[in-house]
Amino acid sequence: MDEIKVMLTEKEIPTHWYNVQADMPNLPKPPLNPATGQPVTPDDLKPIFPLGLIMQEASRERWIEIPDEVREIYRLWRPTPLFRARRLEKTLDTPARIFYKYEGVSPAGSHKLNTAVAQAYYNKKEGIKRLTTETGAGQWGTALAQACNFFGLECVVYMVKVSYHQKPYRRSVMEIFGATVYASPSENTEAGRKILAQMPDTPGSLGIAISEAIEDAAGREDTNYSLGSVLNHVCLHQTVIGLEAKEQMARAGCYPDVVIGCVGGGSNFSGLAFPFAYDKLTRGAHTRLVAVEPTACPTLTRGLHTYDFGDVAGFTPLLYMHTLGSKFIPPGIHAGGLRYHGDAPLLCQLVADGIVEAQALNQTEVFQGAVLFARSEGIVPAPESAHAVQWAIREALQAKEAGEARNILFNLSGHGLLDLAAYDNYLSGKLVDYPLPEEELRKALEMLPKV
Ligand SMILES: *Cc1c(COP(=O)(O)O)cnc(C)c1O
Repeated sequence: MDEIKVMLTEKEIPTHWYNVQADMPNLPKPPLNPATGQPVTPDDLKPIFPLGLIMQEASRERWIEIPDEVREIYRLWRPTPLFRARRLEKTLDTPARIFYKYEGVSPAGSHKLNTAVAQAYYNKKEGIKRLTTETGAGQWGTALAQACNFFGLECVVYMVKVSYHQKPYRRSVMEIFGATVYASPSENTEAGRKILAQMPDTPGSLGIAISEAIEDAAGREDTNYSLGSVLNHVCLHQTVIGLEAKEQMARAGCYPDVVIGCVGGGSNFSGLAFPFAYDKLTRGAHTRLVAVEPTACPTLTRGLHTYDFGDVAGFTPLLYMHTLGSKFIPPGIHAGGLRYHGDAPLLCQLVADGIVEAQALNQTEVFQGAVLFARSEGIVPAPESAHAVQWAIREALQAKEAGEARNILFNLSGHGLLDLAAYDNYLSGKLVDYPLPEEELRKALEMLPKV
């Protein structure tokens, strides 16, 4: 093909999400209620989630219809473009074809709005007035603030303290859309006050912010909690990315040999990769699916695959996933937003079963790739997305070495125009690698809950 972009029309927005639970050889072990040690029931989850999402969490139906009200809002930015990175190919002088699906065109600047809109919809439909959530780098808070705004819901965001101070513009965006934003840990919740008493100078973490958001939601009838990644229904909603990309790749006359995404909690990777995993699981396709994480938070590559809490205080069900330990507080020094201690149980199971391959990159190499990509393609990637960019570059260089016309597809999950401080640090030589020390990993894993 000669095109640089493959576009679909609004009519071609997928009508159904793809549920990989229908086709997995092994499902992850079920989430457990920490109080009883028994699998969680819908009743356990009702205080903080709407039934529509609880049902999706456990569903094994392969195709789940996207409500018209959600598709209607998807039309604001979907379908997103698929690009062929011809200028990057030229820069690398590679025989590989490099494609990327660009989710940064959403009003939130990332893929996160795909699930935020769906979650706001199901909550609204069940009479909820107010949603709480956590945000790390700020993209999820932004997406949920926008989605709540579309559906007339109140939105309360607990933002990891280090990001609250480093990224004031993210807070501004959330406030434009009417959200209330607190630096976490905050004085607002029991969990926040307890941590502040123990560690007044903590930079905060996603695990802490989740505890605060859940406590807030659990204490009020009119309020539910919303999570931007990790859970099955979140990965489900993100499959619009991969479903569109498959159609676009077909129109480009190509099928990917390798599909790449960065991993924080696993949702953008899953969104792109699960529809291709479908081909692997049901038709024996040989595509490699590569999940890329930072060496500073190496959940899939060095964590344990076991039961752990999703938050610090232990409010969430125990999830069966790769984890660095829910007490793990990632270094504030690291630039990317990929700092969660766990990962999506569905993704972890696919890694354990050898269907998805996990890799980790150091952040200086990642930013080097990001700048090369920006200079070739004109888009500044989000630091998270840059992990996928750099892995695609590595694949393209390997293909060159091997003289192989490899088809590479990666997810450019968001743009980095609100992450410029991290780029400043890189460009002025201040960014350093921070592979997680073995000793710290051991300490965090020692505090895992006993199941
Ligand atoms: C939040 C975010 C991620 C990481 O979260 P996942 O659930 O792993 O997708 C990656 N890229 C961008 C742009 C993000 O905003």
